[in-house]
Amino acid sequence: MKASPDCFAICEVRLYDGTGNPPVPADVVVKDGRIAAVEPPRKLNLTGTEKISGSGLSLAPGFVDVHSHSDRSLIKAPGADSKITQGITTEVVGNCGSSAFWTKPEDIHETLTETGLKGHWKDLQTYAAAVEEAHPAVNVGALCGHNTLRELVTGNVDRALTSSEMQQMKELLRESLEQGALGFSSGLIYFPGKYSDTDEVKELASVLRGSSKPYVTHMRSEGNQVLEALEEAFEIARSGSGKLQVSHIKATGPNNWGKAKTMAARIEEEQRNGLQIKADRYPYIFSHTSLLVSVPEPFNRIDGLTLQKQLQSSPERREELLQTMIKKGCIRGDWDNVICMNNDPQYRHFYGKPIETVAEALGLSVAELYVKFLTDYPRGGSAAYKTMLEENLHFFLSHDWCTPGTDASAIPMDGSMGLCHPRGFGTFPAFYQIAKKYAPVESVIRRMTSDPARFFNIFDRGLVKAGLAADLVLFDEETLSGQATLDNPTALSQGIAKVFVNGHLAYSAEEPSWRSYHGKFLKVKN
Ligand SMILES: [Zn+2]
Repeated sequence: MKASPDCFAICEVRLYDGTGNPPVPADVVVKDGRIAAVEPPRKLNLTGTEKISGSGLSLAPGFVDVHSHSDRSLIKAPGADSKITQGITTEVVGNCGSSAFWTKPEDIHETLTETGLKGHWKDLQTYAAAVEEAHPAVNVGALCGHNTLRELVTGNVDRALTSSEMQQMKELLRESLEQGALGFSSGLIYFPGKYSDTDEVKELASVLRGSSKPYVTHMRSEGNQVLEALEEAFEIARSGSGKLQVSHIKATGPNNWGKAKTMAARIEEEQRNGLQIKADRYPYIFSHTSLLVSVPEPFNRIDGLTLQKQLQSSPERREELLQTMIKKGCIRGDWDNVICMNNDPQYRHFYGKPIETVAEALGLSVAELYVKFLTDYPRGGSAAYKTMLEENLHFFLSHDWCTPGTDASAIPMDGSMGLCHPRGFGTFPAFYQIAKKYAPVESVIRRMTSDPARFFNIFDRGLVKAGLAADLVLFDEETLSGQATLDNPTALSQGIAKVFVNGHLAYSAEEPSWRSYHGKFLKVKN
């Protein structure tokens, strides 16, 4: 594979321009990183221009992943294999309340030592410089996270903020937005966001007022209190800019499956009332988070690192956890919903297997395995939870306000940074496969491209239009499909032929590991 020239044409494609208009045959000329012309085939004089044949293929704007956790992984592994191989050219990081800037210096130091980067960062501006120094293959923009701000200002404490702490957090958020952050995110099941009440988040979100930057939330509940949590999200968005992105929308657990219709109805009612609302979703029915989130009270009120220290130093504390697990069980349904996704090489062969199978193989009870994992790993390591309903997945994806989001960080395809949930490699093609059952392909493509780009005020991308940045995906719409599964989580998607970022070929299915590095850090000023 060789680098593309500064000027080239992709010829005779079926063009989905991202507006939602039906496809048209076209030649697209790219020059100096931008789309120079879009015309019907053979209308342009392309003598002397290098041509890439798009015959039999479709061309769309690069896909926009609004729910990424590549904050640090893009710096460590800038090739972004898991993302670019599914057609993603832009990632929004800083989701679920957690951003890489405004973190403690020791956390940053760890990333720097691992990568050998010379720069250091503190705020969004210096973080952006570090990302650019790493030369990622994809573009990246960042949200400012509530948990990160709270952790920096007050530490991990279960109490309300003092007014001076609130002022400090608002100031940091304001500064981040001025420096180009795309919005404000919360993760209200995580620490220390879990300790906040609605008023706290509303007051912080008020910094967004007057801008068109969204409040993006991993809601306080996606299970028994999901309807209340959605109302809370509306209320917070109203005190902000009136724009809300619901992260990985779902209703978990059989008791709550029936609530999906009410959720959708409430979203649409609030849209009619004037809120701008979108929701993202990965097209799978199991989640991916820590083992800690399925541990009963009071253990799930303690942040994972503190709990780990307690368990490591006290046999009595371990016994207490064991007895609690035996008595109360998993708070995310039955044990057979829990899947081991521990990335430690010694457990890698159990990746994707039910936790019961792992416990049995190790000669432990499930409760004993929980105690072991929570003692040995921060937050107990990764786990997946099969708590969603297939029918609801289809229901959410059938709505025009639902866009894809991987909820994953970019990782290499060789497994050198561990494995991940299949969503890491397969989300966009798998989303396409389901969503096109309910809507024309052109609307599905719009939801993967210009809708999220516009929602996050990235107006230079998301469309195939002369003058805009040349982020493009050449694909086969018949075979486009996600191939990653729990058994083979790094399987590459099918049907993505070529991906271009800022006018440069960045991925080709002919040589999947070949890469070029032309991603930019995207800042939004408004
Ligand atoms: Zn989340």
